[in-house]
Amino acid sequence: MDTRVRFAPSPTGQVHIGNIRTAIFNWLFARHTKGRFLLRIEDTDLERSTEAATKALLECMEWLGLDYDEEILYQSKLSDDHRKAAEGFMAKGLAYRPVSTNGQPPPIIFSIPWDTSNIPAVRTVGPAEIELNSESPVKIEQGGVSFAQTTKKGTPLERSACLAGFLDLRVIDTSGNCVFELNKEIGPILEGKASFSFDSCSKLCFTRREVFYKDIIKGELAKPLDSMKDLVILRGDGSPIFHLANVCDDITQKITHIIRGDDHVENTYKHIFLFYALGHAPPAYGHMPMIVNQSGKPYSKRDGDAFVGDFREKGYYAEAFFNYLSLLGWSPGDDREKLSRKELIELFQVERVKSAPAQFDLNKLFNMNGLYLAELPPNLFTALAWQFASRCEWAPGIDSKFFEKVAALMQSRTKLLSHTNSWQYFFTDKFEYDMKSVQKLLSPAPVRGALATLCERCLALEAFNETSIEAEIRKVEAEAGIASGKLNQPLRVAVTGCTVGAGVYETMILLGRERSIANIRRALSLDTGAKE
Ligand code: GLU
Repeated sequence: MDTRVRFAPSPTGQVHIGNIRTAIFNWLFARHTKGRFLLRIEDTDLERSTEAATKALLECMEWLGLDYDEEILYQSKLSDDHRKAAEGFMAKGLAYRPVSTNGQPPPIIFSIPWDTSNIPAVRTVGPAEIELNSESPVKIEQGGVSFAQTTKKGTPLERSACLAGFLDLRVIDTSGNCVFELNKEIGPILEGKASFSFDSCSKLCFTRREVFYKDIIKGELAKPLDSMKDLVILRGDGSPIFHLANVCDDITQKITHIIRGDDHVENTYKHIFLFYALGHAPPAYGHMPMIVNQSGKPYSKRDGDAFVGDFREKGYYAEAFFNYLSLLGWSPGDDREKLSRKELIELFQVERVKSAPAQFDLNKLFNMNGLYLAELPPNLFTALAWQFASRCEWAPGIDSKFFEKVAALMQSRTKLLSHTNSWQYFFTDKFEYDMKSVQKLLSPAPVRGALATLCERCLALEAFNETSIEAEIRKVEAEAGIASGKLNQPLRVAVTGCTVGAGVYETMILLGRERSIANIRRALSLDTGAKE
Protein backbone atom coordinates (compact mmCIF):
# COMPACT_ATOMS: atom_id res chain seq x y z
CA MET A 1 0.00 0.00 0.00
CA ASP A 2 1.29 3.43 -0.87
CA THR A 3 1.94 5.65 2.07
CA ARG A 4 -0.29 8.66 2.43
CA VAL A 5 0.58 11.17 5.09
CA ARG A 6 -0.72 14.59 5.82
CA PHE A 7 0.11 17.85 7.51
CA ALA A 8 -3.02 19.09 9.24
CA PRO A 9 -2.40 22.50 10.76
CA SER A 10 -5.02 24.66 12.40
CA PRO A 11 -4.65 28.14 10.88
CA THR A 12 -5.04 30.13 14.06
CA GLY A 13 -1.84 32.14 14.21
CA GLN A 14 1.74 32.29 13.10
CA VAL A 15 3.52 29.10 12.10
CA HIS A 16 5.58 27.75 15.01
CA ILE A 17 8.79 25.87 14.30
CA GLY A 18 7.25 22.79 15.93
CA ASN A 19 4.41 22.86 13.45
CA ILE A 20 6.57 23.22 10.41
CA ARG A 21 8.88 20.46 11.64
CA THR A 22 5.79 18.21 11.64
CA ALA A 23 5.26 19.16 8.02
CA ILE A 24 8.92 18.52 7.20
CA PHE A 25 8.95 15.05 8.78
CA ASN A 26 5.75 14.08 7.00
CA TRP A 27 7.07 15.43 3.73
CA LEU A 28 10.39 13.59 4.10
CA PHE A 29 8.58 10.39 4.99
CA ALA A 30 6.31 10.70 1.95
CA ARG A 31 9.18 11.48 -0.39
CA HIS A 32 11.35 8.72 1.08
CA THR A 33 8.61 6.12 0.65
CA LYS A 34 7.50 7.56 -2.71
CA GLY A 35 4.09 8.05 -1.16
CA ARG A 36 1.87 11.10 -1.01
CA PHE A 37 2.03 14.17 1.17
CA LEU A 38 -1.30 15.89 1.67
CA LEU A 39 -2.21 19.20 3.16
CA ARG A 40 -5.35 19.58 5.21
CA ILE A 41 -6.25 22.89 6.74
CA GLU A 42 -8.10 22.17 9.97
CA ASP A 43 -10.21 25.29 10.03
CA THR A 44 -13.19 23.93 11.97
CA ASP A 45 -12.63 26.45 14.73
CA LEU A 46 -14.16 29.25 12.72
CA GLU A 47 -13.67 31.83 15.42
CA ARG A 48 -9.93 31.30 15.70
CA SER A 49 -9.10 30.33 12.11
CA THR A 50 -8.15 33.22 9.86
CA GLU A 51 -7.42 33.60 6.19
CA ALA A 52 -4.27 35.50 7.04
CA ALA A 53 -3.00 32.52 9.03
CA THR A 54 -3.76 30.16 6.14
CA LYS A 55 -1.92 32.47 3.77
CA ALA A 56 1.08 32.68 6.08
CA LEU A 57 1.12 28.93 6.35
CA LEU A 58 1.05 28.40 2.61
CA GLU A 59 3.85 30.93 2.20
CA CYS A 60 5.99 29.13 4.76
CA MET A 61 5.42 25.84 2.98
CA GLU A 62 6.30 27.30 -0.36
CA TRP A 63 9.40 28.95 1.05
CA LEU A 64 10.57 25.61 2.41
CA GLY A 65 9.71 23.70 -0.74
CA LEU A 66 7.07 21.58 1.01
CA ASP A 67 5.01 20.75 -2.02
CA TYR A 68 1.86 18.70 -1.53
CA ASP A 69 0.40 16.14 -3.83
CA GLU A 70 -3.33 16.67 -3.95
CA GLU A 71 -5.67 19.58 -3.63
CA ILE A 72 -5.73 21.20 -0.21
CA LEU A 73 -8.57 19.85 1.89
CA TYR A 74 -10.27 22.56 3.91
CA GLN A 75 -11.81 20.76 6.84
CA SER A 76 -14.69 23.21 7.24
CA LYS A 77 -15.97 22.13 3.81
CA LEU A 78 -16.64 18.66 5.15
CA SER A 79 -18.73 19.65 8.19
CA ASP A 80 -21.77 17.88 6.74
CA ASP A 81 -19.86 14.62 6.58
CA HIS A 82 -18.78 15.07 10.18
CA ARG A 83 -22.36 15.71 11.27
CA LYS A 84 -23.51 12.64 9.38
CA ALA A 85 -20.90 10.56 11.11
CA ALA A 86 -22.10 11.80 14.49
CA GLU A 87 -25.72 11.07 13.60
CA GLY A 88 -24.61 7.63 12.40
CA PHE A 89 -23.10 6.96 15.80
CA MET A 90 -26.39 8.02 17.40
CA ALA A 91 -28.33 5.66 15.17
CA LYS A 92 -26.04 2.76 16.07
CA GLY A 93 -26.16 3.49 19.80
CA LEU A 94 -22.47 4.46 19.84
CA ALA A 95 -23.18 7.99 20.99
CA TYR A 96 -25.75 9.82 23.06
CA ARG A 97 -27.13 13.26 23.73
CA PRO A 98 -27.20 14.11 27.41
CA VAL A 99 -30.25 15.87 28.78
CA SER A 100 -29.84 19.59 28.33
CA THR A 101 -29.40 21.44 31.58
CA ASN A 102 -29.30 24.99 30.22
CA GLY A 103 -32.09 25.08 27.67
CA GLN A 104 -29.54 24.88 24.81
CA PRO A 105 -29.44 21.90 22.46
CA PRO A 106 -27.13 19.28 23.97
CA PRO A 107 -23.97 18.05 22.25
CA ILE A 108 -23.48 14.57 20.86
CA ILE A 109 -21.16 12.48 22.99
CA PHE A 110 -19.38 9.41 21.71
CA SER A 111 -19.25 6.65 24.30
CA ILE A 112 -16.06 4.67 24.67
CA PRO A 113 -17.53 1.28 23.74
CA TRP A 114 -18.55 -1.07 26.52
CA ASP A 115 -18.33 -4.00 24.14
CA THR A 116 -14.75 -4.06 22.96
CA SER A 117 -14.80 -7.56 21.55
CA ASN A 118 -14.28 -6.22 18.01
CA ILE A 119 -11.61 -3.72 18.98
CA PRO A 120 -8.19 -5.36 18.84
CA ALA A 121 -6.64 -2.23 20.36
CA VAL A 122 -8.26 -2.98 23.73
CA ARG A 123 -7.00 -5.65 26.11
CA THR A 124 -7.78 -6.76 29.62
CA VAL A 125 -5.20 -5.83 32.21
CA GLY A 126 -6.69 -7.67 35.19
CA PRO A 127 -8.50 -7.02 38.44
CA ALA A 128 -8.20 -3.50 39.85
CA GLU A 129 -9.42 -1.60 42.87
CA ILE A 130 -9.87 2.08 43.59
CA GLU A 131 -10.03 3.20 47.23
CA LEU A 132 -12.73 5.80 47.72
CA ASN A 133 -13.26 8.82 49.87
CA SER A 134 -16.52 7.72 51.50
CA GLU A 135 -17.75 11.30 52.02
CA SER A 136 -18.56 11.64 48.31
CA PRO A 137 -21.20 9.54 46.56
CA VAL A 138 -20.49 7.08 43.77
CA LYS A 139 -22.64 7.81 40.73
CA ILE A 140 -23.12 5.48 37.83
CA GLU A 141 -24.91 6.84 34.79
CA GLN A 142 -24.80 6.98 31.00
CA GLY A 143 -22.00 9.59 31.12
CA GLY A 144 -19.77 7.32 33.24
CA VAL A 145 -18.80 6.58 36.81
CA SER A 146 -18.02 9.46 39.15
CA PHE A 147 -16.49 9.10 42.57
CA ALA A 148 -13.85 10.64 44.81
CA GLN A 149 -10.47 9.44 45.95
CA THR A 150 -8.57 11.02 48.82
CA THR A 151 -5.64 13.36 48.28
CA LYS A 152 -2.46 13.15 50.39
CA LYS A 153 -3.84 16.02 52.42
CA GLY A 154 -6.98 14.02 53.17
CA THR A 155 -9.37 16.02 51.01
CA PRO A 156 -11.66 14.45 48.40
CA LEU A 157 -10.36 14.30 44.84
CA GLU A 158 -13.31 14.12 42.45
CA ARG A 159 -12.88 11.89 39.42
CA SER A 160 -15.00 10.45 36.68
CA ALA A 161 -14.41 8.08 33.81
CA CYS A 162 -16.34 6.33 31.08
CA LEU A 163 -18.49 3.28 31.87
CA ALA A 164 -16.26 1.14 29.67
CA GLY A 165 -13.48 1.67 32.16
CA PHE A 166 -15.26 -0.44 34.75
CA LEU A 167 -15.93 -3.89 33.40
CA ASP A 168 -17.30 -6.19 36.11
CA LEU A 169 -17.59 -3.22 38.47
CA ARG A 170 -18.68 -3.93 42.01
CA VAL A 171 -19.22 -1.03 44.40
CA ILE A 172 -18.29 -1.91 47.97
CA ASP A 173 -19.67 0.08 50.91
CA THR A 174 -17.85 0.96 54.11
CA SER A 175 -19.12 -2.24 55.80
CA GLY A 176 -17.59 -4.35 53.05
CA ASN A 177 -20.87 -5.23 51.30
CA CYS A 178 -21.26 -5.18 47.55
CA VAL A 179 -24.05 -2.66 46.89
CA PHE A 180 -23.94 -2.67 43.10
CA GLU A 181 -22.87 -4.86 40.17
CA LEU A 182 -22.53 -2.98 36.92
CA ASN A 183 -22.69 -5.97 34.54
CA LYS A 184 -26.25 -6.64 35.68
CA GLU A 185 -27.49 -3.11 35.03
CA ILE A 186 -25.37 -2.04 32.08
CA GLY A 187 -28.08 -2.21 29.37
CA PRO A 188 -30.43 0.48 30.70
CA ILE A 189 -27.52 2.60 31.94
CA LEU A 190 -25.93 2.71 28.48
CA GLU A 191 -29.27 3.74 27.04
CA GLY A 192 -29.60 6.54 29.57
CA LYS A 193 -32.63 4.90 31.13
CA ALA A 194 -31.17 4.18 34.54
CA SER A 195 -28.70 5.78 36.88
CA PHE A 196 -27.48 4.95 40.36
CA SER A 197 -25.96 6.76 43.29
CA PHE A 198 -24.46 5.33 46.47
CA ASP A 199 -23.23 7.00 49.65
CA SER A 200 -20.62 5.72 52.08
CA CYS A 201 -18.66 3.55 49.70
CA SER A 202 -15.14 2.30 50.34
CA LYS A 203 -13.95 0.95 47.04
CA LEU A 204 -14.57 0.12 43.43
CA CYS A 205 -13.54 -3.36 42.30
CA PHE A 206 -13.44 -3.99 38.56
CA THR A 207 -11.59 -5.53 35.67
CA ARG A 208 -9.23 -3.01 34.13
CA ARG A 209 -9.00 -2.74 30.36
CA GLU A 210 -6.67 -0.59 28.40
CA VAL A 211 -6.37 0.74 24.89
CA PHE A 212 -2.91 0.26 23.40
CA TYR A 213 -1.04 0.74 20.19
CA LYS A 214 2.50 0.59 18.91
CA ASP A 215 3.79 4.06 18.24
CA ILE A 216 6.40 4.05 15.47
CA ILE A 217 8.49 6.50 17.49
CA LYS A 218 7.62 5.94 21.13
CA GLY A 219 7.07 2.19 21.13
CA GLU A 220 4.03 0.62 22.74
CA LEU A 221 1.75 3.04 24.57
CA ALA A 222 -1.36 2.22 26.58
CA LYS A 223 -4.00 3.97 28.60
CA PRO A 224 -6.44 2.38 31.06
CA LEU A 225 -10.05 2.97 30.09
CA ASP A 226 -10.86 3.92 33.69
CA SER A 227 -8.87 7.10 33.10
CA MET A 228 -10.72 8.00 29.90
CA LYS A 229 -13.95 9.86 29.37
CA ASP A 230 -16.62 9.74 26.73
CA LEU A 231 -16.00 12.24 24.01
CA VAL A 232 -17.96 15.27 22.88
CA ILE A 233 -17.92 15.05 19.08
CA LEU A 234 -20.57 17.54 17.96
CA ARG A 235 -21.51 20.75 19.73
CA GLY A 236 -25.15 21.51 20.46
CA ASP A 237 -25.11 23.97 17.55
CA GLY A 238 -24.12 21.16 15.19
CA SER A 239 -20.49 22.17 14.75
CA PRO A 240 -18.05 19.26 14.80
CA ILE A 241 -15.34 18.96 17.42
CA PHE A 242 -11.70 18.46 16.40
CA HIS A 243 -11.59 14.75 17.32
CA LEU A 244 -14.43 13.78 15.02
CA ALA A 245 -13.40 16.00 12.13
CA ASN A 246 -9.77 14.90 12.38
CA VAL A 247 -10.58 11.19 12.28
CA CYS A 248 -13.27 11.48 9.58
CA ASP A 249 -10.89 13.41 7.36
CA ASP A 250 -8.03 10.98 7.91
CA ILE A 251 -10.39 8.29 6.67
CA THR A 252 -11.56 10.42 3.74
CA GLN A 253 -7.97 11.15 2.77
CA LYS A 254 -7.01 7.48 3.23
CA ILE A 255 -4.15 8.39 5.51
CA THR A 256 -1.85 5.47 6.25
CA HIS A 257 0.48 7.10 8.80
CA ILE A 258 -0.23 9.91 11.22
CA ILE A 259 2.97 11.62 12.25
CA ARG A 260 2.33 14.47 14.62
CA GLY A 261 3.54 16.14 17.80
CA ASP A 262 3.43 14.18 21.02
CA ASP A 263 0.97 16.63 22.50
CA HIS A 264 -1.52 14.51 20.54
CA VAL A 265 -0.79 11.18 22.25
CA GLU A 266 -3.77 11.59 24.55
CA ASN A 267 -6.00 12.30 21.55
CA THR A 268 -4.76 9.20 19.78
CA TYR A 269 -6.20 6.91 22.48
CA LYS A 270 -9.59 8.49 21.78
CA HIS A 271 -9.19 8.55 18.03
CA ILE A 272 -8.49 4.82 17.90
CA PHE A 273 -12.03 4.22 19.16
CA LEU A 274 -13.49 6.62 16.62
CA PHE A 275 -11.70 4.82 13.79
CA TYR A 276 -13.15 1.48 14.83
CA ALA A 277 -16.59 3.02 15.31
CA LEU A 278 -16.38 4.34 11.74
CA GLY A 279 -15.51 0.87 10.52
CA HIS A 280 -11.80 1.42 9.91
CA ALA A 281 -8.67 0.15 11.54
CA PRO A 282 -6.60 3.11 12.75
CA PRO A 283 -3.56 4.11 10.68
CA ALA A 284 -0.03 3.79 12.03
CA TYR A 285 0.88 6.53 14.49
CA GLY A 286 4.16 8.20 15.26
CA HIS A 287 4.37 10.98 17.82
CA MET A 288 7.33 13.28 17.50
CA PRO A 289 9.22 14.62 20.48
CA MET A 290 8.62 18.12 21.65
CA ILE A 291 11.04 20.91 20.77
CA VAL A 292 12.48 22.28 24.00
CA ASN A 293 14.70 25.17 25.09
CA GLN A 294 18.07 24.93 26.85
CA SER A 295 16.36 24.14 30.16
CA GLY A 296 14.18 21.42 28.71
CA LYS A 297 10.93 23.43 28.68
CA PRO A 298 8.74 23.65 25.56
CA TYR A 299 10.39 26.10 23.19
CA SER A 300 8.34 29.25 22.93
CA LYS A 301 8.52 32.85 21.82
CA ARG A 302 10.09 33.71 25.16
CA ASP A 303 13.17 31.68 24.20
CA GLY A 304 13.78 33.63 21.00
CA ASP A 305 12.37 33.45 17.52
CA ALA A 306 9.79 30.68 17.39
CA PHE A 307 7.85 31.43 14.24
CA VAL A 308 8.97 30.47 10.77
CA GLY A 309 8.25 34.00 9.50
CA ASP A 310 10.75 35.45 11.99
CA PHE A 311 13.54 33.26 10.69
CA ARG A 312 12.73 34.05 7.11
CA GLU A 313 12.67 37.75 7.89
CA LYS A 314 16.09 37.52 9.58
CA GLY A 315 17.65 36.06 6.49
CA TYR A 316 17.79 32.37 7.17
CA TYR A 317 18.16 30.45 3.95
CA ALA A 318 15.30 28.03 3.37
CA GLU A 319 17.49 24.98 2.73
CA ALA A 320 19.55 25.60 5.86
CA PHE A 321 16.43 26.05 7.95
CA PHE A 322 14.92 22.90 6.44
CA ASN A 323 18.12 20.95 7.10
CA TYR A 324 18.37 22.13 10.69
CA LEU A 325 14.72 21.42 11.54
CA SER A 326 14.93 17.96 10.01
CA LEU A 327 17.62 17.17 12.59
CA LEU A 328 15.42 18.20 15.50
CA GLY A 329 14.56 14.78 16.80
CA TRP A 330 16.01 12.77 13.94
CA SER A 331 19.47 11.95 12.71
CA PRO A 332 20.76 9.75 9.92
CA GLY A 333 22.70 7.68 12.45
CA ASP A 334 26.14 9.15 11.85
CA ASP A 335 27.70 12.51 12.62
CA ARG A 336 26.62 14.16 9.42
CA GLU A 337 24.60 17.30 9.92
CA LYS A 338 24.79 19.23 6.71
CA LEU A 339 22.62 17.21 4.40
CA SER A 340 21.11 18.19 1.11
CA ARG A 341 17.42 17.75 0.55
CA LYS A 342 18.15 14.78 -1.68
CA GLU A 343 20.22 13.16 1.04
CA LEU A 344 17.58 13.88 3.64
CA ILE A 345 14.94 12.20 1.50
CA GLU A 346 17.16 9.19 0.97
CA LEU A 347 18.10 8.84 4.60
CA PHE A 348 14.93 9.78 6.42
CA GLN A 349 13.37 6.94 8.37
CA VAL A 350 10.53 7.70 10.69
CA GLU A 351 11.59 4.76 12.88
CA ARG A 352 14.79 6.65 13.60
CA VAL A 353 12.96 9.66 15.05
CA LYS A 354 13.98 9.91 18.67
CA SER A 355 11.43 9.93 21.44
CA ALA A 356 13.45 12.21 23.75
CA PRO A 357 12.71 15.96 23.52
CA ALA A 358 14.71 17.79 20.88
CA GLN A 359 16.66 20.82 22.03
CA PHE A 360 16.51 23.84 19.80
CA ASP A 361 19.94 25.39 19.42
CA LEU A 362 19.74 28.76 17.75
CA ASN A 363 23.50 29.02 17.53
CA LYS A 364 23.76 25.80 15.62
CA LEU A 365 21.10 26.93 13.20
CA PHE A 366 22.92 30.24 12.79
CA ASN A 367 26.19 28.51 11.99
CA MET A 368 24.53 26.07 9.64
CA ASN A 369 22.98 29.00 7.84
CA GLY A 370 26.45 30.51 7.43
CA LEU A 371 27.72 27.25 5.92
CA TYR A 372 24.88 27.15 3.43
CA LEU A 373 25.30 30.78 2.43
CA ALA A 374 29.03 30.34 1.99
CA GLU A 375 28.49 27.45 -0.42
CA LEU A 376 25.81 29.03 -2.59
CA PRO A 377 26.63 29.72 -6.24
CA PRO A 378 27.76 33.37 -6.23
CA ASN A 379 24.95 34.57 -8.47
CA LEU A 380 22.34 33.03 -6.20
CA PHE A 381 23.98 34.49 -3.12
CA THR A 382 24.08 37.89 -4.79
CA ALA A 383 20.40 37.68 -5.71
CA LEU A 384 19.39 36.67 -2.17
CA ALA A 385 21.66 39.28 -0.61
CA TRP A 386 20.08 41.90 -2.86
CA GLN A 387 16.59 40.89 -1.71
CA PHE A 388 17.64 41.96 1.78
CA ALA A 389 20.02 44.78 0.94
CA SER A 390 17.55 46.46 -1.37
CA ARG A 391 15.42 47.35 1.65
CA CYS A 392 18.24 49.44 3.13
CA GLU A 393 18.15 53.19 2.83
CA TRP A 394 21.53 53.26 1.09
CA ALA A 395 20.36 50.78 -1.56
CA PRO A 396 18.53 52.91 -4.13
CA GLY A 397 20.67 53.67 -7.13
CA ILE A 398 23.67 51.55 -6.24
CA ASP A 399 25.65 49.98 -9.03
CA SER A 400 24.70 46.34 -9.49
CA LYS A 401 28.14 45.31 -10.73
CA PHE A 402 29.72 46.84 -7.64
CA PHE A 403 27.11 45.11 -5.46
CA GLU A 404 28.14 41.79 -7.06
CA LYS A 405 31.75 42.44 -6.11
CA VAL A 406 30.83 43.30 -2.55
CA ALA A 407 28.64 40.20 -2.33
CA ALA A 408 31.51 38.06 -3.62
CA LEU A 409 33.83 39.51 -0.97
CA MET A 410 31.30 39.13 1.85
CA GLN A 411 29.71 35.79 0.98
CA SER A 412 31.92 33.56 3.10
CA ARG A 413 31.51 35.91 6.09
CA THR A 414 27.74 36.26 5.94
CA LYS A 415 25.79 34.14 8.39
CA LEU A 416 22.43 35.81 7.90
CA LEU A 417 21.16 37.53 4.80
CA SER A 418 19.85 40.40 6.88
CA HIS A 419 23.46 41.15 7.85
CA THR A 420 23.76 42.74 4.44
CA ASN A 421 22.50 45.91 6.12
CA SER A 422 25.96 46.24 7.66
CA TRP A 423 27.51 46.48 4.18
CA GLN A 424 26.58 50.13 4.09
CA TYR A 425 30.17 51.44 4.11
CA PHE A 426 30.68 50.02 0.63
CA PHE A 427 27.84 52.04 -0.78
CA THR A 428 27.65 55.30 1.08
CA ASP A 429 30.20 57.67 2.57
CA LYS A 430 27.68 58.74 5.16
CA PHE A 431 27.64 55.50 7.07
CA GLU A 432 27.49 55.57 10.83
CA TYR A 433 30.56 54.68 12.84
CA ASP A 434 30.21 52.35 15.78
CA MET A 435 31.25 54.96 18.32
CA LYS A 436 32.12 52.47 21.05
CA SER A 437 34.70 50.88 18.78
CA VAL A 438 35.90 54.29 17.63
CA GLN A 439 36.44 55.36 21.23
CA LYS A 440 38.13 52.15 22.16
CA LEU A 441 40.38 51.71 19.16
CA LEU A 442 40.98 55.18 17.77
CA SER A 443 41.77 57.10 20.95
CA PRO A 444 45.47 56.30 21.47
CA ALA A 445 47.65 59.05 20.01
CA PRO A 446 50.15 56.65 18.36
CA VAL A 447 47.29 54.94 16.53
CA ARG A 448 45.88 58.25 15.32
CA GLY A 449 49.30 59.37 14.20
CA ALA A 450 49.94 56.09 12.41
CA LEU A 451 46.60 56.22 10.59
CA ALA A 452 47.18 59.80 9.47
CA THR A 453 50.62 58.83 8.16
CA LEU A 454 49.14 55.79 6.45
CA CYS A 455 46.77 58.06 4.52
CA GLU A 456 49.72 60.05 3.23
CA ARG A 457 51.65 56.94 2.30
CA CYS A 458 48.69 55.38 0.55
CA LEU A 459 48.27 58.51 -1.52
CA ALA A 460 51.87 58.23 -2.58
CA LEU A 461 51.70 54.52 -3.44
CA GLU A 462 52.18 53.71 -7.06
CA ALA A 463 50.04 50.59 -6.98
CA PHE A 464 47.22 50.31 -4.49
CA ASN A 465 47.12 46.55 -3.89
CA GLU A 466 47.23 44.07 -1.02
CA THR A 467 50.99 43.72 -0.98
CA SER A 468 51.69 47.43 -1.14
CA ILE A 469 49.05 48.34 1.46
CA GLU A 470 50.27 45.68 3.84
CA ALA A 471 53.88 46.74 3.46
CA GLU A 472 52.95 50.37 4.25
CA ILE A 473 50.96 49.36 7.30
CA ARG A 474 53.86 47.33 8.68
CA LYS A 475 56.21 50.25 8.13
CA VAL A 476 53.89 52.75 9.75
CA GLU A 477 53.39 50.44 12.72
CA ALA A 478 57.13 50.06 13.23
CA GLU A 479 57.68 53.84 13.05
CA ALA A 480 54.94 54.50 15.60
CA GLY A 481 56.13 51.79 17.98
CA ILE A 482 52.96 49.75 17.47
CA ALA A 483 53.34 45.96 17.54
CA SER A 484 53.11 44.37 14.13
CA GLY A 485 49.50 43.66 13.17
CA LYS A 486 48.03 45.82 15.91
CA LEU A 487 47.00 48.59 13.55
CA ASN A 488 44.72 46.32 11.55
CA GLN A 489 41.72 46.51 13.81
CA PRO A 490 41.81 50.31 14.33
CA LEU A 491 42.27 50.60 10.57
CA ARG A 492 39.25 48.43 9.96
CA VAL A 493 37.11 50.59 12.25
CA ALA A 494 38.41 53.71 10.53
CA VAL A 495 37.66 52.34 7.06
CA THR A 496 34.35 50.57 7.71
CA GLY A 497 32.98 52.00 10.94
CA CYS A 498 32.75 48.56 12.54
CA THR A 499 34.89 45.70 13.79
CA VAL A 500 33.69 42.86 11.59
CA GLY A 501 33.84 42.24 7.88
CA ALA A 502 36.11 40.91 5.22
CA GLY A 503 39.90 41.30 5.34
CA VAL A 504 40.72 44.98 5.72
CA TYR A 505 43.13 45.09 2.76
CA GLU A 506 40.60 43.46 0.44
CA THR A 507 37.96 45.84 1.72
CA MET A 508 40.19 48.84 1.03
CA ILE A 509 40.96 47.65 -2.46
CA LEU A 510 37.29 47.24 -3.26
CA LEU A 511 36.53 50.67 -1.80
CA GLY A 512 39.39 52.16 -3.74
CA ARG A 513 42.20 54.38 -2.58
CA GLU A 514 40.28 57.64 -2.41
CA ARG A 515 37.30 56.39 -0.46
CA SER A 516 39.49 54.40 1.91
CA ILE A 517 41.55 57.47 2.71
CA ALA A 518 38.47 59.66 3.00
CA ASN A 519 36.94 57.19 5.46
CA ILE A 520 40.10 57.08 7.59
CA ARG A 521 40.22 60.87 7.69
CA ARG A 522 36.55 61.10 8.60
CA ALA A 523 37.14 58.59 11.41
CA LEU A 524 40.05 60.66 12.70
CA SER A 525 37.86 63.74 12.78
CA LEU A 526 35.35 62.04 15.08
CA ASP A 527 35.33 62.93 18.74
CA THR A 528 36.78 59.89 20.50
CA GLY A 529 36.33 61.47 23.90
CA ALA A 530 40.09 61.20 24.50
CA LYS A 531 41.81 64.11 26.26
CA GLU A 532 44.47 65.82 24.14
N1 GLU B 1 -4.91 20.53 13.68
C1 GLU B 1 -4.13 19.75 14.59
C2 GLU B 1 -2.99 20.60 15.12
O1 GLU B 1 -2.58 21.54 14.48
C3 GLU B 1 -3.54 18.60 13.85
C4 GLU B 1 -3.59 17.36 14.54
C5 GLU B 1 -3.09 16.22 13.70
O2 GLU B 1 -2.02 16.32 13.07
O3 GLU B 1 -3.78 15.22 13.68
O4 GLU B 1 -2.49 20.31 16.18
